Amino acid sequence: MPTYEYICRYCQQFLNVMATIKEKEEGLNPSCPECGSNEVRQSFSGVFFAMKGAGSSSSYSSSSGSSSSCGSCQSCK
Ligand SMILES: [Zn+2]
Repeated sequence: MPTYEYICRYCQQFLNVMATIKEKEEGLNPSCPECGSNEVRQSFSGVFFAMKGAGSSSSYSSSSGSSSSCGSCQSCK
């Protein structure tokens, strides 16, 4: 059974929730053991996607900026 990691929005408490794929698809709604809040978010996917997106976008903008002469715009002619 896979384990999903959540973080409470209020007290930043980590939750490890064990659930089947079916339970996850049907909508998992774990509650924080510390404050009892249902306002939790899944932790791992957000972190990884944010890092991946920031790295690829910065490298893309730097490579396009280095090519100063495009030959098609007004400043290059
Ligand atoms: Zn909490």
